[in-house]
Parts: sequence; structure tokens; C-alpha cells
Amino acid sequence: MLLTITNTTPAATDLGFLLHKNPARLHTRDLPFGRAHVFYPKAGNDECTAALMLEIDPVGLVRGRSSQNGEGGPLDQYVNDRPYVASSFMSVAIGRMFATAMSGRCKDRPELVDTPLALRVSLPVVACRGGKPFLKKLFEPLGYSIETEQLELDTAFPEWGASPYHSVTLAGTCTVHDLLSHLYVLIPVLDDEKHYYVGADEIEKLLRHGDGWLQGHPERDEIAHRYLKHHRRLTRMALARLVEEEAADPDVEVAVQDVEEAETERSLSLNEQRLSAVLHQLKTSGAKRVLDLGCGEGRLLKLLLKDIQFSSITGMDVSVRALETASERLGLSRLPERQRQRLTLIHGSLMYSDSRLKSHDAAAVVEVIEHLESYRLAAFERVLFEFAQPARIVLTTPNVEYNILFETLPAGRLRHRDHRFEWTRAEFRAWGDRIGAQFGYSVEYFPVGPEDPIHGAPTQMAVFSQ
Ligand code: SAH
Repeated sequence: MLLTITNTTPAATDLGFLLHKNPARLHTRDLPFGRAHVFYPKAGNDECTAALMLEIDPVGLVRGRSSQNGEGGPLDQYVNDRPYVASSFMSVAIGRMFATAMSGRCKDRPELVDTPLALRVSLPVVACRGGKPFLKKLFEPLGYSIETEQLELDTAFPEWGASPYHSVTLAGTCTVHDLLSHLYVLIPVLDDEKHYYVGADEIEKLLRHGDGWLQGHPERDEIAHRYLKHHRRLTRMALARLVEEEAADPDVEVAVQDVEEAETERSLSLNEQRLSAVLHQLKTSGAKRVLDLGCGEGRLLKLLLKDIQFSSITGMDVSVRALETASERLGLSRLPERQRQRLTLIHGSLMYSDSRLKSHDAAAVVEVIEHLESYRLAAFERVLFEFAQPARIVLTTPNVEYNILFETLPAGRLRHRDHRFEWTRAEFRAWGDRIGAQFGYSVEYFPVGPEDPIHGAPTQMAVFSQ
């Protein structure tokens, strides 16, 4: 399996600096599925070609079977096309051999990183499901001109017809960093057959390497779909994030809606009652290190800061705007050093395991889950209950049965336009009981706010304890 990258912008051998591979040497590295080599068949001032050759060990791939819990190795036959066609193995090799270039760094000549060069890429054998039209759709919007030739199945037997394989040459003027990102994402998309398990961290890879170009690509949905190997849930999550990033200014929208929600609930000063109920549960657990997940503008953080029992307080939110407001409201920059050290604000999402959430005694998740798409709840559950795993989790959400009692809320409307769902008490209990059983927490439920004999209280709170 071979990939060559040619630079024709003088001094062409700058390619060696950018790839962090000296043109005068052979660079070899063992990978889990074979061995990769980088060398330069040509290294002149006008033209310089770097070749990445990958020797796949097909026998080793199959032997992997027994060592992987009897589940089967990456491939189940000794004879297959994997050693010869550019596939996700090639992507992994690009990532390993050109890691520094892919991260956009160049130690010796940093000014080269952002310099567009006249580049040509050749992939002698590519498996392309969707053929030439799909190849063009993928690469032309990124500014490449593309030449392809469909290979015969067997040159000795022309009557057998064409194979599914193509030889591909791409030419364009771009940075080496962009070129590598495009290849890294799109080679497995072409091949449409990933060799490794596709998990949630693949979304991170896709978004990281697709940064700056995938969002606006006309084939964005198909690329995400294929890259994540037709994994519908993952694809939806990835697309949702790309779309989120695209939205004009979601924070402004949410801020307007927050005012509306506050108006609906104001008569009860429900917010204060909710926060004091949550605070009470955190305090009685004896927690010292606490998390406020989806901390918004920091109302709970303010109360936590006032209580010295809480020696380490971390607020996390997906919205940078909310975090900035929280920082302002709490007067972070004016706090004395010792107070400031107790509080950390972090930008992050509850959809992704984050090591910063580990080693805490308790977590509050106040009026957040109803903002998550219900199909994303499973990811949130694992991130919090399985990965971060604090001993106590205090979680609140609206009780939809109570909505009928809000005078200003039209029938059937949720309290906030950004709410994806609101649960009845029975629905909340069914969810909480399932989560408790699944992750080994006991659960208690509490009403928060004035309780109506028929419709219950406006807010419902679950307290999970390990
Ligand atoms: N807990 C706060 C804010 C509730 S509003 C309070 O009670 O005042 C819901 C908050 O959840 C918003 O600030 C929103 O930005 C945040 N949020 C929504 N989705 C999130 C996610 N995936 N990860 C982290 N925070 C999220």
C-alpha cells in the first residue's frame, strides 16, 4: 500500500521539514498491523516526493483472532485486499508517521506550516465505493483537481471487466497540514470499511481532523456517515455537533429563552428553592470536592463558594458565554487568591468522558438533562455515572404535569424553548430507577417547590448515592 506526496513549490525539499522526516533517510516504524516506511524517491529543489509505504501483515491480522477474547481479529480471511489498497490502515499510518505535521507544528521552520504549496498526491490503489463520481464529490469541493483510472480486475483476463479499485491522483495548492487532514478523514470514507472498532472517540477524531473544512463540505453528512461506519447514533451525534458549531450564536438564543423560563417560574422563586434543596443534599453527603455540571451563569456556584465545607468546586458548561457570565457574576478576577483557588470553571460537554470530572465526591446537575436530546442521554449517563462516578449525584428536572398550573404557559408548551423533553413524575422515576440499578446507586426522589395534590411539585429532584 503506497501513498506519495509531491511538492513542486521551490524549495521543494521544505516538505521534509513539514513532515518532520529528513529526505536523506529511511524512516521505519512498527504498527499494530504491520510496518510503515517513509522515504523520498526524489528530493530536488523543484520537486520533492515523500512516499509512505505500508506493509500490512495479513497473517498477523488474522492471528489477532484468538488473542481478542475469541471475538475474531480485524479480518477473518488470510486472503483479502487489505495489504494492497489504501484504507483506514493507511489513515492510521498517516496519523502515526506524520503526527507532528498533522498537529500543525513544525519545529525547525514554523513559518512553513501555514504556507500553501503546490502538492500532488498519488494513491495507486484505492477501493472506492461510489466510483469516480463520488471521488470527485469528495475532493473537488476542497479545491483539488482529480484524475482517476479504474483498474481492471485482472489484466490477463480483460473480459472479467473492471475492479472496484481506482488509481487516484490529486493536485491542489494547500498546506501540508490540510492535505493530511483531508486524506486522513477521506481515505477510510472512500473505502467505506473501517478495520477497527468505531467508538465515540472516533467522533472527536472526525471533528478534530475535519476542523475548518468538514462543516462546509457539501458531502458532510455522507462523510460523517461513512467515517463512523454507518453507526447511526454516532453519526447523529457528530452531525449535531457540526451543526451546533455552525449556528449563528446559540448562546444569545438560549439567553432570551432563559428569561422566558425565569418569568414562568418567578412567582414561586422556584429557582431559589431548587438551589437550596440541591445545596442541602450536597452538604449532608459530606462532600468536599463538588461538580456543578451545566453550571450556566453560576447561581449554584455562588452558594457553594460561600460554604467552606466545599474545598474544591468545579463548574462545567458547554456554553462559553454562560461561563464568561458566571466568571463575571462571581467576580472571579477580584476574589482573594485562596477563594479563587477553590473554584475552577471548565468548558466541556457532558456528552464526552472527561478526566477532569474524575475524583469528585458529589455532582449537581440542575435543570440540564432536559436540554439534551433524549438519544444523547445514554452518553451522558455513562459519562457521569460510569466514568466520573462521584459518590453522590443530585439531579433536577421539571415535572411536566405541573405545567398546567403556570398561568402564562400556553397548553402543551414546555417551559423553555430549548427543552427537548419534560418528564412526568412516573417517567423520571422509571429513568432514575433504571440508572440506579444499572450503575449501582440507590435513589431517592424529592419534590421541590409548592406541591399540588394532583399535579405534584414544579421541580423533581433525584438524589443518587453510591
Ligand atoms: N444549572 C444552571 C443552568 C441550567 S440551564 C442553573 O440551574 O441555573 C442548562 C445549562 O446546561 C445551560 O447553561 C447549558 O449551556 C448547559 N448545557 C446544555 N447542554 C450541555 C452539555 N452537553 N454539556 C454541558 N452543559 C450543557
